Amino acid sequence: ASEQYRNFPMVPRVVYGKGSFDQLGDILMPKRRHSEAPMIFLVDDVFENKPLLERIPTIFCDQIILISSNEEPKTEQVDALVKKILADFGELPSGIIGIGGGTLLDLAKAVALMLTNKGSASDYQGWDLVNTPAVYHVGVPTISGTGAEVSRTTVLMGPDKKLGINSDYTTFDQVVLDPDLTEGVPKDQWFYTGMDCFIHCIESLNGTFLNAFSKSYGEKSLELCKEVFLATNSATDSREKLMMASWHGGMSIAYSQVGVAHAMSYGLGYVLGVKHGIGNCLVFQYLEEFYPEGVSMFKKMLHKHTIELPAGICANLSEAEMNTMITVAMGMAPLWENALGENWKTIVTPKKLASIYKKI
Ligand code: NAD
Ligand code: ZN
Repeated sequence: ASEQYRNFPMVPRVVYGKGSFDQLGDILMPKRRHSEAPMIFLVDDVFENKPLLERIPTIFCDQIILISSNEEPKTEQVDALVKKILADFGELPSGIIGIGGGTLLDLAKAVALMLTNKGSASDYQGWDLVNTPAVYHVGVPTISGTGAEVSRTTVLMGPDKKLGINSDYTTFDQVVLDPDLTEGVPKDQWFYTGMDCFIHCIESLNGTFLNAFSKSYGEKSLELCKEVFLATNSATDSREKLMMASWHGGMSIAYSQVGVAHAMSYGLGYVLGVKHGIGNCLVFQYLEEFYPEGVSMFKKMLHKHTIELPAGICANLSEAEMNTMITVAMGMAPLWENALGENWKTIVTPKKLASIYKKI
């Protein structure tokens, strides 16, 4: 029998270019069902009182909801937003637009899904559990690296797990890539989220799931990451390149998987609330054994941009917390299988993971 290949959705429409954000109004217009069915803009509250807010094309009863990205999205937060939107308007909105980083993009995807699917977002954490298409949803990244703008997942912290809603309906219907929107990202955050992209490339390109499809995107993304983080660029070039690196990095993992750093970063996130980008960096620096070239390049990038990673994060963990962290990390079977092959359990033991976590 021939192999069963997975049939992935892609973002069907994307506009790219400096200042392209100003086309959002025209893009949304044909998607408006009528004046009582609003567009809901979920916007990172870092833009409160910033000029970007004035540029959001609200009309009729559209709503802008400012949301903090200090914590990563939670299933209960998604449920509360859905309840509020359904209570405020007698019917489904015409669309949900997420404006921000991975946190806001994931929230927008999850809210759009849960407006049309019964129950709690936590019921759908996993693979292909969603049955009904989402409300029209648009992603507008304002920081580059996660690849959340292209992926078919929305990563949520639930009552008992941190896991994505992976489904064909999760992917955005429209993405607006305007590199100017990433102006103003603080340097450390630029680095951490940018390294998420770099680590996606390393994990995808060194994984056992790699095929020519993933490789083509991963190699392009890695090349752009090297230009952004190891060469000299104008600020504009750097923003443009990193935005496209993020896109290609996300495309690369669509047909492969991430690996060791992501599995272990999930553990850090679940137990200590460490955010995705910095969590990946904290883990990745100690993964020479798995990714020797990647880690050496990463250290050059840290040095070039004089980034000092925090230390002692896991110093005061109780034994129970350490065990939870290890259980969460080891629970990410597809990631380990991608990184190390089918027999990964012979290489990755709780003891080995504890020894890495203790260094962090
Ligand atoms: P983020 O969205 O949490 O934002 C990081 C910080 O940057 C925040 O303080 C935010 O306010 C600030 N910021 C964003 N844009 C800014 C701008 N233009 N100017 C000034 N400040 C700005 O960070 P992130 O790293 O983009 O996203 C992390 C999240 O993405 C995590 O929740 C992670 O789980 C998720 N993620 C999702 C996927 C996916 O495929 N769905 C992939 C990777 C990560
Ligand atoms: Zn990632």
